[in-house]
Amino acid sequence: MRLRSGRGLRAPDVVVYPGTHDEVAAVLALCAQEWVAVIPFGGGTSVVGGVEPLRGSFGAAVTLDLARLTGLSALDPHSQLATFAAGTTGPDVERLLGARGLTLGHFPQSFEFSTVGGWAATRSAGQASTGYGRIDALVVALRAATPSGDLATLAAPASAAGPSVRELLLGSEGVLGVITEVTLRVRPRPAEQRYDAYSLPRFAAGTEALRALVQAGAAPDLARLSDEEETRISLALSARPVATRALRAYIRGRGQRPGCLAILGFDGDRGQIAQRRARARSILRRHGTIALGPAPGAAWAKGRFHGAYVRDELLSRGVLVDTLETATSWTALGGLHRDVGMALRDALARRGAPTLVMCHVSHVYPTGASLYFTFLARQQAGAELEQWQAAKTAASEVITGAAATITHHHGVGTDHLPWLATEVGEVGLAALRAVKAQVDAAGIMNPGKLLA
Ligand SMILES: Cc1cc2nc3c(=O)[nH]c(=O)nc-3n(C[C@H](O)[C@H](O)[C@H](O)COP(=O)(O)OP(=O)(O)OC[C@H]3O[C@@H](n4cnc5c(N)ncnc54)[C@H](O)[C@@H]3O)c2cc1C
Repeated sequence: MRLRSGRGLRAPDVVVYPGTHDEVAAVLALCAQEWVAVIPFGGGTSVVGGVEPLRGSFGAAVTLDLARLTGLSALDPHSQLATFAAGTTGPDVERLLGARGLTLGHFPQSFEFSTVGGWAATRSAGQASTGYGRIDALVVALRAATPSGDLATLAAPASAAGPSVRELLLGSEGVLGVITEVTLRVRPRPAEQRYDAYSLPRFAAGTEALRALVQAGAAPDLARLSDEEETRISLALSARPVATRALRAYIRGRGQRPGCLAILGFDGDRGQIAQRRARARSILRRHGTIALGPAPGAAWAKGRFHGAYVRDELLSRGVLVDTLETATSWTALGGLHRDVGMALRDALARRGAPTLVMCHVSHVYPTGASLYFTFLARQQAGAELEQWQAAKTAASEVITGAAATITHHHGVGTDHLPWLATEVGEVGLAALRAVKAQVDAAGIMNPGKLLA
């Protein structure tokens, strides 16, 4: 938006491409000595300003691009452990594992470009993380270079050896050091994947259905529930209008208004999938769901990584568009959905722009779920960034006021910095800053992000 509104692009002074852990360590040592900021860069897909080349109090900024630090460096199929260099991208992870009949099962929407190191550094969640677990649940061990030396954790399956250094590196967003290697839990590649669509009368009915599924231990691997507005827009934009008209007619014929669409995905062999689907269906039926068959789910799966390309096109055509996400308990979910939606609509409407706010549940847990909002408005010419900031601030204040998390999977970067203390507390923040001071005394690592 800054570029499109003519306010210039922030660029680093130098980009370096180390090819080994030792080269990363050498870059950090040199930058600490020369008083130069270092910005680790994986796929560059951060949506919260994580790779902005900010200099902080330093004279220069070096972007440390991990594009040469790639590949599968160790595999223990017996223990289902795979170690990747941090710059390995999603497609390469799945290609290298797929050749051995394995999968990681981590598919963020940015899958095509994002990297193993970036996932770990941001606590990423993939589209199938309800079943496979978020990246925090898949990372078994990490190796990182810091300005003070190496940090490495064991690949033991569990440990009681005090607070976890692994947990400190997860979500560290490049402010402690550079993750160079990640050991992940992998699984046999599923023989089949099945995406089913369901219609529900209302969003509240849908969230209750998902809660019932996950609390009964019957959650699918992928669970996605669109609210009324998102359902309305996705049906209106369908590439198959005839099929969509038939779908609407079918739902009405079953005595329901087209309310909310849910997509549930199951991985496994044919028998496992059949068994899991049957169990899920019997629970869903009690919540007024109508099964719509595999076609809408297959259409979703086909376009699962396409959203970002639409976003850039919309920005170029004068439409403000962004997303934000949060998570809270099942009890608080309905109220948070209503209040964040209202805050976004109010903030954008106050600036006189026609507005659209949509939401879906993207991940479910036994105790709660995430909400993923997309908001669109006509751009306010000359004040595009201020318009975006007003919407972002309004939503963030509602989220933190409700004791929900400021970010379920995008991370903190620069955008969520003002609200981090509300989530972790002043003492918590001071403790994290003390760790940073220990491993990065000069403060060269990614200044202005996360702990700034
Ligand atoms: C279209 C789109 C869809 C997205 N969908 C999802 C989604 O479904 N789920 C999700 O979780 N996120 C999503 N994101 C956000 C983003 O893709 C994730 O945060 C992702 O994990 C970032 O990975 P990356 O390799 O691109 O990291 P980058 O963007 O390069 O970096 C992210 C942060 O991590 C730091 N970093 C990167 N690599 C390292 C390293 N090796 N060591 C230390 N620090 C490092 C960077 O300095 C930065 O602070 C999406 C983004 C886009 C643009």
